[in-house]
Amino acid sequence: MTQFSDLNLDPKVLKAVSEAGYETPTPIQAGAIPPALEGRDVLGIAQTGTGKTASFTLPMITLLGRGRARARMPRSLVLCPTRELAAQVAENFDTYAKHTKLTKALLIGGVSFKEQDALIDKGVDVLIATPGRLLDHFERGKLLLTGVQIMVVDEADRMLDMGFIPDIERIFGLTPFTRQTLFFSATMAPEIERITNTFLSNPEKIEVARAATTGENIKQGVVMFRPSRKDREGSEKRALLRRLIDAEAETCTNAIIFCNRKMDVDAVAKSLKKHGYDAEPIHGDLDQSQRTRTLDGFRAGEVKILVASDVAARGLDVPAVSHVFNFDVPSHAEDYVHRIGRTGRAGRKGSAIMICNPRDEKNLEDVERLVQNTIPRLDDPKGTTAAASAESPVAETATEEERPRRTRTRSRSRSRDEAKAEEKSATVEPKAEVKPEPKAESTPAPKPEVKAEPKVEAAPEPKAAPEPKAETKPTAEVASEPKRGEGRGNDRNRGGRDRRRNDTRDEDVVGMGEDTPAFIAKSFEERRAS
Ligand code: AMP
Repeated sequence: MTQFSDLNLDPKVLKAVSEAGYETPTPIQAGAIPPALEGRDVLGIAQTGTGKTASFTLPMITLLGRGRARARMPRSLVLCPTRELAAQVAENFDTYAKHTKLTKALLIGGVSFKEQDALIDKGVDVLIATPGRLLDHFERGKLLLTGVQIMVVDEADRMLDMGFIPDIERIFGLTPFTRQTLFFSATMAPEIERITNTFLSNPEKIEVARAATTGENIKQGVVMFRPSRKDREGSEKRALLRRLIDAEAETCTNAIIFCNRKMDVDAVAKSLKKHGYDAEPIHGDLDQSQRTRTLDGFRAGEVKILVASDVAARGLDVPAVSHVFNFDVPSHAEDYVHRIGRTGRAGRKGSAIMICNPRDEKNLEDVERLVQNTIPRLDDPKGTTAAASAESPVAETATEEERPRRTRTRSRSRSRDEAKAEEKSATVEPKAEVKPEPKAESTPAPKPEVKAEPKVEAAPEPKAAPEPKAETKPTAEVASEPKRGEGRGNDRNRGGRDRRRNDTRDEDVVGMGEDTPAFIAKSFEERRAS
């Protein structure tokens, strides 16, 4: 088996690699490093989690070992689709270049131009950037790309989704024709193929298996969900999500919940928080500092549930995620592979559980075709009534002032009478349609004390760039999401679900009128009797 020491890397790089605890190169590293060191173009078809970042950083550091940077003329350029990924690459660079004198700058949105300009003015060996921010600097006349000897394009397929391809083409055109190009993409869409044919010269092509498609360490399952009424779809689906999380409580240490649309990211995070879960949203419309804080919190185990859009979460290196919940079936089948690849990393066990609406069944077929497997159908964990535990539309649109009171009210009836409500609900419940197929084990449902353990090794994040076209603009509901540090944003600091449970003391309720549902009335009678 190839060892790092066989790869002709700079001894200083080898030392850093060994200090990082890596012994043998991963397949993408063993395949990409030798041609890269020979100065050849490389086309790596690999996704995050395969070790691809080191497959371009290690040879870059070795090749740049000789020579010095000149003011405003970086010697190498790494382009990443999101701020998170760019920051992650920068961290990798710091790890592997720690015994060298190479310098780097990170050009991402949300950081002041002034600081970044100062670094570039001094001259950097490695410039790590998102395409938009890089072009902003270029247009301000602060940057020359004619000194770029090595250019890396990371996650090209995501660049395509985000509409960055014209920027990438432009940047290619600003760098010298003689540059070396290391190009990485998880998939080879026709447009990506066109770019590589245009800008890469006789590349060495290395393709590594999609780890997630065959990942036997990832338990997969899908719950077929049918809302009882169209206007209740959102709240019933969120109630089902909570039941799924609860059912996994024993093994769920932390989780990423993926939604197809940004507005759902916000709605799901908000709703989970309201129900006492330790959840935070992350997507492209949130401001930089909030995204960084959320990610750092998630990595540190302070935030247990990250609710994310594909773009925001793509490529994040968060090795200890125990669960991925797909609130929707992704509309691009490849995203399923990326999403579930967030769990079960480095041989750990993981679970990937998805909810499928009737209208997503076509997408589910596409996913199953791509992974060449039938995803086991799961039962709704309790077969409960989503209606009983679903939020009312009123609560969903409550103002910040109104919300705490309503939340408490709801918590009261929920915590007391959930079971009774479920009984009753047979008629009301959305009853996630259950196809008893190969049944993936779902544990019975203690409450979700999604415990922390995550230790992570990557960096902060976001970008102001567009998210994939499929995502829609946030609605007013999204706009009302409280800022961190305000209102419910602090739930987790106050003890999250436990705290909420403690708050749900029963109180006498008057004025319910004659229409009080029997299951609620019963609880009062019991109370009165006692
Ligand atoms: P990446 O695909 O670059 O996001 O890397 C995924 C994870 O694998 C990161 O946590 C790396 O630190 C880790 N990693 C990279 N190279 C190796 C290696 N040769 N052996 C073990 N882990 C590695």
